[in-house]
Amino acid sequence: MGHIKLNQITKSFGDVEVIPPLDLTIENGEFAVFVGPSGCGKSTLLRLIAGLEDVSSGHIEIDGRDVTDVPPAKRGLAMVFQSYALYPHMSVRKNIAFPLHMAGMDQAEQQRRVERAASVLNLTDYLDRRPGQLSGGQRQRVAIGRAIVREPAAFLFDEPLSNLDAALRHGMRMEIGELHQSLSTTMIYVTHDQVEAMTMADKIVVLRAGVIEQVGSPLDLYREPRNLFVAGFIGSPT
Ligand code: ADP
Ligand code: MG
Repeated sequence: MGHIKLNQITKSFGDVEVIPPLDLTIENGEFAVFVGPSGCGKSTLLRLIAGLEDVSSGHIEIDGRDVTDVPPAKRGLAMVFQSYALYPHMSVRKNIAFPLHMAGMDQAEQQRRVERAASVLNLTDYLDRRPGQLSGGQRQRVAIGRAIVREPAAFLFDEPLSNLDAALRHGMRMEIGELHQSLSTTMIYVTHDQVEAMTMADKIVVLRAGVIEQVGSPLDLYREPRNLFVAGFIGSPT
């Protein structure tokens, strides 16, 4: 589970085409990073996959199913927002269980999933606290926990660490990497940070003005950047 295929998708806002026809496949279990300068369309592309924006044309498949017209909640994906999207008045336990509660899942199954997510994320001792009583990194983990409990086919992250300081960012990068190892679920991670892309990705997708300049492993891009833009962005010695 977690195979994502974009077939000739485009996106325009009014008269402005921000994504010209684009094809991309993300394999099951892959850690894909969308990287590129601010305004190049990373968030738009992620939101199209999530269904938070409708494509102007083209098709999106998830695990062989055409989801182009399927609403976000039924695509089987989980978008991880920054930690400030937590509910301050609810315990960590309730924050993590929230999507399951909304889906009407029975209490026992909710608790089972919350406890499993908490154990993966080292949050077991914090379940009865409020978000305000946690560190920034712990809050970010709660936001991830809320995605894990839904057992999605893929996780979508849009610059989840941009509000954290450098030391915390480094720690969270490692944690997200470990999470990917332990869940082996597809992850798509958006960042404008080359270091994050190079250290986290199985596959890097380099975007410029809505166009994919190159797709490849960090090593491929480093050794054989297709053009000066990619070389400059990745920091290859050309
Ligand atoms: P990135 O995430 O790479 O910084 P975005 O996907 O947010 O870039 O934006 C890509 C382009 O689309 C930008 O030119 C941005 O101004 C434009 N854009 C994004 N969302 C909207 C919107 N809702 N309405 C109009 N233009 C938008
Ligand atoms: Mg963005």
